[in-house]
Amino acid sequence: MSKIASHLPRWQIASRFASMWRASGHADLDDQELKSRAAHLAARLPMLYLIFALTALLVVYAFYGSASMIQTVVAPSIYISICLMRARYWSNSAVLARDEAVLRKDISRLQYVGPGVIVFAITWIVSLYPGASVFQQGVVHYVVGVMITSGMLTLIDTPRTALLGGLAAATPFCAVLLIFGDLDHAMIALCQVAVTALLSFIAVRYYEDLGQMLKSSRKLRERQIRIEENAADLKVLSTTDPLTGILNRRAILALAEENIADQANAEPWLALLDLDGFKQINDTYGHPVGDEVLQLVANRIRTAQGIDHCGRIGGDEFAFLISGEKTQAQTVAIAERLADSIAAPVEINGICITPRASIGLRKTERMSLGECLERADFALFKAKVSDVAVALFDKAQEQELLFKTRVASDFKDADLEEELDIEFQPIIDFDTRQILSLEALARWKRKDSSVVMPGIFIDLAETTGRICEITDCMISKAIAFASEWPNPVGVHINLSPHDLMREELASFISSTLDATAFPASRVTFEVTETTLITKPEEALSAITSIRALGCRVALDDFGTGFSSLAYLDRFPFDQVKLDREFARKFGVGTTSAAIASTVFELCQKLRMDCTVEGIECFEQAVLARNMGMRRMQGYYFAKPLKHDAVCAMLANGEWHEDFPEEAAKRSAG
Ligand code: C2E
Ligand code: CA
Ligand code: CA
Repeated sequence: MSKIASHLPRWQIASRFASMWRASGHADLDDQELKSRAAHLAARLPMLYLIFALTALLVVYAFYGSASMIQTVVAPSIYISICLMRARYWSNSAVLARDEAVLRKDISRLQYVGPGVIVFAITWIVSLYPGASVFQQGVVHYVVGVMITSGMLTLIDTPRTALLGGLAAATPFCAVLLIFGDLDHAMIALCQVAVTALLSFIAVRYYEDLGQMLKSSRKLRERQIRIEENAADLKVLSTTDPLTGILNRRAILALAEENIADQANAEPWLALLDLDGFKQINDTYGHPVGDEVLQLVANRIRTAQGIDHCGRIGGDEFAFLISGEKTQAQTVAIAERLADSIAAPVEINGICITPRASIGLRKTERMSLGECLERADFALFKAKVSDVAVALFDKAQEQELLFKTRVASDFKDADLEEELDIEFQPIIDFDTRQILSLEALARWKRKDSSVVMPGIFIDLAETTGRICEITDCMISKAIAFASEWPNPVGVHINLSPHDLMREELASFISSTLDATAFPASRVTFEVTETTLITKPEEALSAITSIRALGCRVALDDFGTGFSSLAYLDRFPFDQVKLDREFARKFGVGTTSAAIASTVFELCQKLRMDCTVEGIECFEQAVLARNMGMRRMQGYYFAKPLKHDAVCAMLANGEWHEDFPEEAAKRSAG
């Protein structure tokens, strides 16, 4: 004892005891640690109380008959009953049934209850000691020794209780031994004190080790929690679209796939939503405004009624799911309400913007996600081209999609030189009735003799990279045909945005013209504004080199896209073709006519020709003429014609003897 003490400075022993004493109050245990401490106690305390009860029976056996009834029956009965009750109280099932608050109280109460029980037992046992026989004294020594040792070791992880219990047992026992005043009893007392002290050290050491373990297990648990939190954050990050805060492409598609696969639920409706003219918003007002529009739209989808899940799957494309419980009519109504809500004007940075959306819907009946997406996308495309907010994929579309898929696969291997055909649509002078020029329109005649219109295969050619092949083919063929036409009838050839990006275009045109000796001045190339927006420098350079050859350049479909009047000033066009939308709306309100007439006046000022496309009836032609326009194109004059028909028409020298209405009037008259 003194050796141990000499190794440890006194203050250190004292401070370790003190810190153990403070720490073993259990006040700082969190709920989980408290539960595990209670579970430990439940695994051991009932055994300890059984040991106490058993040793009490030994004492009764040793003293029964030689001591009073109170000492051999009443006191042990009370003591054994208390032990059994406490054993039951600390049984595993009883502990499990108690909540954290009760357990906290129980553990804290144990430091008084345990020593209390021991004080009772020791008082009883020690009262038997004076006058006991050698055997009886031996039993008392044994029982007290067992009580102290088993008690302190069992309660080692609640050391305050262990020490109090040890003291409660050792102090009265040693006091009684010392009262005898002889060396034998004094030696036993001394040994008992030493054993109790050493057990106390063991308890302190153990408790310190336990503290370390507790610390590291806490750290581990904290790290585990942090990892779980990070994992949760990562999951949110990996499934969220950072700009809009709704699900990203991967997440919404995974969710859609899950919903489709879930047999328990009715198959949901899959909707694809695309903003109309978003690119123009971005290009005109800048990306910050575009971003705000996207956030606004995402928010309107997220808060729309009847929509289960939504996500952003691309730049301005969104996908959402509507429960399969909804009928077709209900689903369409939900989508239409959403489209209406998106179209509510909003002011961003002082600019009033009216976002518009098209929505394609498809029920996910027994389809893979890919098939379903393809169909919803097709319905979306239908919504866009038919100028409605919402379109549903139906049986007719299924046929069309099948056709398109087949066409797409055939197109990859098509021999364009052989299969590409041309029709020509006249552009006439309304006053002189002469054909000024003819627009070459591509037709793809498939091997089975079916004809595919450019509306289908030009897009395919653009996405599969065959568009320049088509252009070259069209330039060669159109100029070859046009060489057979009388001077000065011209030819219009369409260029795609890709064509304006390639440097060899001008030299190809030049060599084709040289080969046929066709005058460059009779060739007009039509370009759309798409390239002017995305690659203005390249577009300008291509237009300039085409014009340098002596060819003309027309801005096609003016009025469909963003149609900035600034383009007319910025790019050296020879002609503007007013999109057929204008002609369609002539006579319906005044806006369309007013814009058309303004553009026409501007063209005159800038010395550009102006052609109005899509004239379908006499009234539209007259309205256009009243605005001052003479160059016209449209089904009213002629649909696209085969080259033979063009030659026959040109042989007449004039486009038509009469306008159909005039001829009809004359024959009626
Ligand atoms: P576009 O350049 O605007 O050509 C005019 C289209 O409008 C033609 O359709 C023509 O048939 C149609 N059209 C003419 N008059 C009327 C009318 O009065 N009413 C209506 N509703 N439509 C009329 P088409 O031949 O189907 O061509 C569609 C588009 O395909 C063309 O529009 C053009 O953008 C593109 N395209 C055609 N051929 C070529 C080509 O060789 N190269 C490129 N890059 N694109 C081409
Ligand atoms: Ca055109
Ligand atoms: Ca056009």
